[in-house]
Amino acid sequence: MTESNANVSLKPEPRPEVPDLTMPFWEAAKRHELVVPRCTPCNAFFWYPREACPTCLRSDSWDWATVSGNARLHTFTIVRQPLHPGFQEEVPYAFAVVQLDEGVRMMSNIVDCDVIEDIQIDMKLEVKFDDISDEWTLVKFKPA
Ligand SMILES: [Zn+2]
Repeated sequence: MTESNANVSLKPEPRPEVPDLTMPFWEAAKRHELVVPRCTPCNAFFWYPREACPTCLRSDSWDWATVSGNARLHTFTIVRQPLHPGFQEEVPYAFAVVQLDEGVRMMSNIVDCDVIEDIQIDMKLEVKFDDISDEWTLVKFKPA
């Protein structure tokens, strides 16, 4: 197959791989609901989803809990060269670690603002659900 010189931005954005473990997160996102794992015995929220609660190490005794979607910006970087050709139209964009009010940190994007001028560490954020297709909704954050 010959590589063409066509505009690389026509390549589709990558889609998440969905092992069974994280399917409830993506299904909730489609409903515009943010859920994270919460341990049943010790009540600790945690992120990312995994077999055992990292706080008390008791296995498979956790469930998905709906959270507020309120967060603060823990840290971020501005991406000026896309990591994947599918994101060419998005640059510059903010790739961030946000800390939910419930205490867990997750990676996401900051949207709905000028990423060069408006973004500051510890700024208040709220979740924004980005329906990128009929099948996929991404969890992003915007200034609160
Ligand atoms: Zn626990």
